[in-house]
Amino acid sequence: MHIAPATEADLDALSALLIETIAGNGSVGFMHPLAEEDARAFWSQALASASHGERVVLGAWRDDRLVGTGTLVLAMAPSQPHRAELTKVMTAHAARGEGVGAALIDALEQSARSHGKSLLTLDAAVIEGATTFYRRLGFHSAGDIPNYAYKPLGGLGATRVFWKSLDEPAADALSPRDAQADERWMRRALALAERAASENGEIPVGAIIVSLDGDVVGEGWNLNIGEHDPSAHAEIVAMRRAGQTLGNHRLVGCTLYVTLEPCVMCAGALVHARIARVVYAASDPKTGAAGSVFDTLVSDRHNHRITVEGGLLASEAGTMLREFFRSRR
Ligand code: ZN
Repeated sequence: MHIAPATEADLDALSALLIETIAGNGSVGFMHPLAEEDARAFWSQALASASHGERVVLGAWRDDRLVGTGTLVLAMAPSQPHRAELTKVMTAHAARGEGVGAALIDALEQSARSHGKSLLTLDAAVIEGATTFYRRLGFHSAGDIPNYAYKPLGGLGATRVFWKSLDEPAADALSPRDAQADERWMRRALALAERAASENGEIPVGAIIVSLDGDVVGEGWNLNIGEHDPSAHAEIVAMRRAGQTLGNHRLVGCTLYVTLEPCVMCAGALVHARIARVVYAASDPKTGAAGSVFDTLVSDRHNHRITVEGGLLASEAGTMLREFFRSRR
């Protein structure tokens, strides 16, 4: 994916994306149907404003096709020189679920930092998934405003206000992100999941805990059936071992890699353990507590906040689980 400032040459693609978003009931300030001339007029004005340094309009391209856009409004009231507002973040329907929105917001955040901004704000329609998405990117929810705006296809909807302080030390500083290492550790967790099924006939879920120094301090896989233990999920088994290894019930700075989105029980235990970061592979639409069903792992109400990233090697983990259940039927 390639992210760069949008220009006049992108007017057609930007307009088409805006019209598509509105037609899909995406709340970005307009009502359906949006005429092409109105869409073009909006973007012309936005790009002119960008050329005056009042905002930043970014586009995301894949194979020369515009697959997303996002705007950062820099021009604020004289009393808010430190604030910037994220707005008009859109992803083409065909590119959903590929991380386009997260990449755009990350790029806009970098842009805000480079403009000396220290506070980011945004509001987003209260729809399923949106809240988890922004929380994962480090935004705090300030609450909901009911009946905030009409949805493009009609009917009033609530909006949720989010903010992020750019002065806060990034979670990365505590637990650095290294994409290659993440994939390596997740592959190891997948190997543990495989053992759960092949050696113990347990549901194939594996977990591994890595310390700030990059050492494996605990690993585990599901042992519920063999141990007659309802709490013996892979994450719990790995946390027990990590506690023993570190001689501490707090696993400060550690990252947990797990092949399936944690459940409520494990999410609660991860918060108690003060884990810094959780990286999971497959989402669990039945019991997932990182946003799929419950928000336990990502709730702002804990006084310990965990950085959560999902989807790494999700298809491998999902295939393993599906094959396991198919073979058992
Ligand atoms: Zn669990």
